Amino acid sequence: MRYAIIADIHGNLEAFQTVLADIKTQNVQQVACLGDVVGYNANPKECLDIVRAMNIPVVKGNHDEYCSSEDHLEGFNPHAAEAVIWTRNQLTTEDRQWLRDLKYSRMVGNFTIVHSTLDAPERWGYVFDKLAAAASFPYQNTQLCFFGHTHVPVAFMRDTTVRGGTYSKFKMDPARKYFVNVGAVGQPRDNNPKSGYVVYDTDAGTVELRRLDYDIATTQAKIRAAGLPERLAERLEFGR
Ligand code: ZN
Repeated sequence: MRYAIIADIHGNLEAFQTVLADIKTQNVQQVACLGDVVGYNANPKECLDIVRAMNIPVVKGNHDEYCSSEDHLEGFNPHAAEAVIWTRNQLTTEDRQWLRDLKYSRMVGNFTIVHSTLDAPERWGYVFDKLAAAASFPYQNTQLCFFGHTHVPVAFMRDTTVRGGTYSKFKMDPARKYFVNVGAVGQPRDNNPKSGYVVYDTDAGTVELRRLDYDIATTQAKIRAAGLPERLAERLEFGR
């Protein structure tokens, strides 16, 4: 069985369509989504409509939470808050209810999916290093768990200790547990502007990161036309 794991679409329709077209070439039977379908970019409604029509497993991201609630955005960076308020206004009441109903983590086949961490998924901690990954592993009941949130594709593994690093493709060792960030479809932050997602092959035991060029200029033009913060357009071409 081959799975495509996508995360952090963030309303970037051009990146999402590019990823979906690539998934069609990868002999994938099931797609799973790690949350943050909305937020930041200019097509949250369109991206959410696609995700909902795909009828796939999805977990809740922090932006899905912010954009589907009425809460005040204290402590938010002003660019993020502005985009959240704009996004709220693009979604229907029913879209927002659908986002609110998402779970923080779930099982898909033989693996787990979560947006942020397994130790406290509702607190939206960031797993950038092996210390943070080490806090998540005790709560991981499957050999493999995929996560998002940092927009930085990196793989952690645990045997007697926890190690981590960047990857393009690796084969899992049955004696180890893996906590794998799949990168971001809609707003990469590893200094590589290409859209990213993962193909997981259960028979081969492999996890492969795929990176794709997409029409960044169109996404940027839409962000500017919507009056969203310029910084959100700019960052896409640098991947940060
Ligand atoms: Zn995100």
